[in-house]
Amino acid sequence: MSTPLLRSHVGGRWYAASDDGRPVHDAVTGEQIARLSTTGLDFEAALDYGRTVGGPALRELTFHQRAALLKALGGHLREHREQLYTVSARTGATLGDSKFDVDGGIGVLLAYASKAKRELPNDTVYVDGDIEPLGKGGTFLGQHVCTPRRGVAVQVNAFNFPVWGPLEKLAPAFLAGVPTLIKPASPTAFLTATLVELIVDSGLLPDGALQFVAGSLGDAFDHLTGQDLVSFTGSASTAQTLRTHPAIVRNSVRFSAEADSLNFSALGPDATPGTAEFDLFVTGLVTEMTVKAGQKCTAIRRAFVPSQHVDAVISATSERLDTVVVGAPDAESTTMGALASLDQREEVRRSVKALRDAGRIVFGDPDTVEVTGADAQRGAFVSPLLLLGDPQRAEPHEVEAFGPVSTILPYSSTEELIDFAARGQGSLAGSIVTADTAFAREVVLGTAPFHGRLLVLNDRDAGESTGHGSPMPQLVHGGPGRAGGGEEMGGIRGVLHHMQRTAVQGDPDTIAAVTGRWVQGAERRETERHPFRLHLEELKPGDTLVAGPRTVSQQDVEHFAEFTGDTFYAHMDAEAAAANPLFGERVAHGYLIVSLAAGLFVDPDPGPVLANFGVDNLRFLTPVTFGDSLTVTLTCKQLTPRESAGYGEVRWDADVTRQDGQSVARYDVLTLVAKKDADKQD
Ligand code: NDP
Repeated sequence: MSTPLLRSHVGGRWYAASDDGRPVHDAVTGEQIARLSTTGLDFEAALDYGRTVGGPALRELTFHQRAALLKALGGHLREHREQLYTVSARTGATLGDSKFDVDGGIGVLLAYASKAKRELPNDTVYVDGDIEPLGKGGTFLGQHVCTPRRGVAVQVNAFNFPVWGPLEKLAPAFLAGVPTLIKPASPTAFLTATLVELIVDSGLLPDGALQFVAGSLGDAFDHLTGQDLVSFTGSASTAQTLRTHPAIVRNSVRFSAEADSLNFSALGPDATPGTAEFDLFVTGLVTEMTVKAGQKCTAIRRAFVPSQHVDAVISATSERLDTVVVGAPDAESTTMGALASLDQREEVRRSVKALRDAGRIVFGDPDTVEVTGADAQRGAFVSPLLLLGDPQRAEPHEVEAFGPVSTILPYSSTEELIDFAARGQGSLAGSIVTADTAFAREVVLGTAPFHGRLLVLNDRDAGESTGHGSPMPQLVHGGPGRAGGGEEMGGIRGVLHHMQRTAVQGDPDTIAAVTGRWVQGAERRETERHPFRLHLEELKPGDTLVAGPRTVSQQDVEHFAEFTGDTFYAHMDAEAAAANPLFGERVAHGYLIVSLAAGLFVDPDPGPVLANFGVDNLRFLTPVTFGDSLTVTLTCKQLTPRESAGYGEVRWDADVTRQDGQSVARYDVLTLVAKKDADKQD
């Protein structure tokens, strides 16, 4: 009987090809479970649908509205994760592996949603960096802004993370306002198909924001434009084929690749047997070999060990590997599942053969493995394999056996370790297990140019460490050279990757209009009512209050000094202050100036201003001496309504000037201001 054909989701509907397609097999039983085909699918139309339907729908939403949808999607998937775990078991994954993939992916959605609310404006344009003054008179400015690219983010994914992979790429693209098209790897496409069904059924995402292709990408690459993006995960050879596709080259399509990676973990010379760090190293190595049966792009392939501790590491690691139970994911005692496919097992065996040319196996047998609850031959099972290699040979630094395989490589000096690590020619992750901070600094700085992420692990951070192999949404994931040269996630960096950065030059009023933020030199309007009496919806960038003057007396300064205890000589000791090359006389405290300014601009009665939650960029620019009088100009700079709260953030420009017009202090005041209909919203 024929197995189901996985459907694609393009152009706002499900699509099923009419031919037989290619079979996909259960990794544990070898049984055929699905078929894949995209025959007859119109890829040009799918890309066009993303650009003309998904893109505009996303661009209508602000960053915060997109974040709210991502959060809701994360919640929806969490509710249905058991369904994903069940399907995931057929990829050979244990429950722990499935959680790593499924919960990890949901975690990325939620982390991005929360980061976006905190770090992105509730707007559709991202203002990148500060204003650049380009003329002496302040009438000509430059400002970088980022806007969503008008194309589609095409994901070409690897087989090893069928849920995390698509979600970690979707989150930043979605936040950026760019629609996504997912192409999963064939061996585990059935799990990604289940994920996409859950997403489509949720009805949470705008039409066209996410499309899915179950099978080959056909002629899709021929139709890529300069506004599209491709993020690829897989082998270095496919990366090379795709990045040199004529349409990618011709149209300068933004192409990011994450490919083969010979990640390292190094045991520090201080971490002798018996230390906490020695145990952490062995635990990390065993974890990275066995989680997802070692099919992790960040797994430790090269374990650098000081020569004198090689025997101890082999013995401690082998002892731990001996307790690993290889078997069916649903068998209770199983601690390591199967590889994703029989082809993958053959690939691992081939790679191990190459590694054996430069070393020897010290644990496991590539051809035999005891399996619990499944047929060892029909399922893609393989034993954990530990090798001892010769670090002077090329193979351990070049051959990625994408399974439960690591090679121990001895080193005899820090210099040698750094040199060996670099022979991977670019990797995703490295870890240095040491309590010696000087050694850690030397190895971090020496290996950083060749790595995307480095973990320094020791007894001090182990309790909270996320481990060697876990890419974090807040941190970049990617590496130079062999690792593909790309970068994914990295917090808001990943969002900006999907946007176009443009330098806008113009006068202050134009820059303020473009960015939606008041900038110095732009028009100010003194409001009829005090701005602290205005609700969020009534305030506009440029609304201004001018308050003062207020004279600063010697008594003010002495009162402040006694009251706060800040009797620093520049305020209190005339002789010492006179000798100070910057002042030459007693001056007022900077904090007194800020406090007096607040006294000038605050409206004391209860009203829409709920709280002052800080100041940014405070600078004291000119000294204030006794008898000087202060005026403060407070200008509404930026409004950030919070989506589901009865208030929003208001950033004010505060400029405190002296009687001669000189700015003495300048800073941003940050307040929370109620919305007019706050009562209804709360
Ligand atoms: P591939 O490079 O063969 O496949 C990766 C993705 O590219 C899959 O979705 C695949 O689709 C797709 N693809 C392949 N050829 C084309 C093409 N011509 N046009 C468009 N898409 C294409 O890698 P595998 O998944 O087979 O893994 C092979 C090896 O890659 C592993 O053994 C491992 O060494 C390495 N790898 C590295 C990873 C890393 O992040 N470092 C992750 C995963 C793998 P399809 O499956 O349908 O062919």
